[in-house]
Amino acid sequence: MMLPGFLHLWDSIIKRWISFFENRIILKFRKLSERPDMREKTYSFTIEEIPIIVTKKRMKNMYLRISKEDGSVRISAPHQMSDERIYRFAKERIDWIRVYREKYLRAKEGRREVRQLSEAELKQQKLLLKREVEKLIAKWEPVMGVKASGVTIRQMKTRWGSCNVRTHHININLALAKKPPECLEYVVVHELTHILEPSHNAVFWGYMTQFYPNWKRVRKYLNDEVPE
Ligand SMILES: [Zn+2]
Repeated sequence: MMLPGFLHLWDSIIKRWISFFENRIILKFRKLSERPDMREKTYSFTIEEIPIIVTKKRMKNMYLRISKEDGSVRISAPHQMSDERIYRFAKERIDWIRVYREKYLRAKEGRREVRQLSEAELKQQKLLLKREVEKLIAKWEPVMGVKASGVTIRQMKTRWGSCNVRTHHININLALAKKPPECLEYVVVHELTHILEPSHNAVFWGYMTQFYPNWKRVRKYLNDEVPE
């Protein structure tokens, strides 16, 4: 009877200590963030016409980041770092910054072109790819002993292909038109294999090894690419 009471007391003492420390940490943090010199400060400058956005904040090291989305260049630096040193840091790396910025900007342009394809061009591209897929299906169906009910070429954001395991209808991502031919063949065999095995389990990958021994390499390549 004594022990539970004693334990309960001990427990409440520990809890009180923990909350005491938590309050201390929160207070300390609040005080620091309320100090005007610890607030985030942002400014920008340009080097050789490249705009560079600087944010000073509470941190230890200086970081430079070029956005893959839009090629914007950002530097995060500790408060105590002088503006001159930050400028020099960027200046010394400007050739490298330019190379990556231009690469990302070009990629952005490329993405825009894909979206700006006219309806007619899109239809034409889909038709061409559909013919390729149909040839591959005709090649693989007898080998694998399966039958696809149909194929649709679609623009998909996250997948290279899909298979409706109930209807055996296959969807193929239009973006495969721009990939090496073995990628399209891998995706076709992959989706046909789903007719034999719906899940990505050992049985599934066993079939893949049997039908398309190179699947690991192509799969890795496609996983590193983003469907567009
Ligand atoms: Zn799959």
